[in-house]
Amino acid sequence: MDWAQLRASTAACTACVLHKQRKQAVPGVGDENAEWLFVGEAPGAEEDARGEPFVGQAGKLLDNMLAAIELKRGENVYIANVVKCRPPGNRNPEPAEAHACEPYLTRQIALIRPKLIVALGKVAAQNLMGSESTIASLRGRVHDYHGTPLIVTYHPAYLLRTLADKAKAWEDLCLAVETLRGLKQAAAAPN
Ligand code: URA
Repeated sequence: MDWAQLRASTAACTACVLHKQRKQAVPGVGDENAEWLFVGEAPGAEEDARGEPFVGQAGKLLDNMLAAIELKRGENVYIANVVKCRPPGNRNPEPAEAHACEPYLTRQIALIRPKLIVALGKVAAQNLMGSESTIASLRGRVHDYHGTPLIVTYHPAYLLRTLADKAKAWEDLCLAVETLRGLKQAAAAPN
């Protein structure tokens, strides 16, 4: 599937119950050749209405987090979610829903070929890693997603409620920047 097919397929998807209540599927936004991929959980009400991920309060914080590491939505950054349709009442996606949606994220990652993936929150981390571990135990080190470095941090919506963990999220973003810098240096170094 190319991007156009992927978008059409996501928009028409009926693979799980979430399609019944969505206004629209929210496939993702940004630079399709980005080095950076940020993965969240699922669209909320505002995202469902606008068709773009992370446009509510959590999205504003995500934009600020991007700005803090000199990134900007749409420029060298792609933003997607594990699940493309809004779970009613903003509940967490069920494992079966995440499983049904997995081929879309997998294909997005294959098309983008990011240099680094940042998982935002537990749902993203657990689904990308096939793990049941907590964010606290996964953050602070570099994981591997089929050959692409993966860094886990807190979800912006959680950070809005838990200001004390913002410093840890900042550490995670710094680790991500350092990891990408190291990769680029290694690629530029003479053999
Ligand atoms: N939270 C997410 O995980 N994704 C969005 O798109 C919005 C809020």
